[in-house]
Amino acid sequence: MASQALQMLLAELAEGRVRVVDLTVRLAPDTPIIHLPDQFAQSHPLSIEVISKFDAHGPGWYWNNLDLGEHTGTHFDAPVHWVTGKDLPNNTTDTISPAKFIGPACVIDASRDAAANPDFLLTPERILAWEKDHGRIPRGAWLLLRTDWSKRTGDAFLNNSPTGPHSPGFHKSASEFLARERDVLGVGVETVGTDAGQAATFDPPFPNHSTMHGAGKFGLASLCNLDQLPPTGAMVIAAPLKIAAGSGSPVRAIALVPS
Ligand code: MN
Repeated sequence: MASQALQMLLAELAEGRVRVVDLTVRLAPDTPIIHLPDQFAQSHPLSIEVISKFDAHGPGWYWNNLDLGEHTGTHFDAPVHWVTGKDLPNNTTDTISPAKFIGPACVIDASRDAAANPDFLLTPERILAWEKDHGRIPRGAWLLLRTDWSKRTGDAFLNNSPTGPHSPGFHKSASEFLARERDVLGVGVETVGTDAGQAATFDPPFPNHSTMHGAGKFGLASLCNLDQLPPTGAMVIAAPLKIAAGSGSPVRAIALVPS
């Protein structure tokens, strides 16, 4: 019975046989955000303004006002984020079914590839090779691309250069395969966005965004601790804020992992 499954899960959590792994980076004013080519408008980094902190503005309470872009830090991309998904039903943070905020994780480890080549792109061939070892990616799974990119600090994270940013991502054919042949929830990455750093120069530009959101799929960006997840067997919980007509939202993404 379903109630027994939940009772068992709670007992496993209480007894430490299921661990909670935090997939979320700390959200601070210096949390790196994407920088688009200069002709486009830019997203705001987080800024925090204290309303009161046990002072004349509020002697017994502490709270802040926030200013930030929807796509700041560890965050969720909704289908309406991209022009390809703008007319889909239930494509905004307030209309997506909350059942889609929970799903199994399939973790592909491309950390060595990304270390050798910052412009590494995941291909369908590589996904099929992973499936030979770990089984078919189930419908409704998050495909998480482990690159260890979240371990980079300072300028090495965005990895900007005169030729634009260099960071790993997905070949267009891999995004098409995952969206159409596997019907995933979406893809999650350790980089600042779900496309490769050089994706503005691809055809079409930003092919992962274009393909995934056009198919009603989601994105998770700036994840961390993917090295603590098994290839299969973990469950991701990532619920965006219910922002009216939101294109995305900062999210506290966590994973339940059998230990
Ligand atoms: Mn985003």
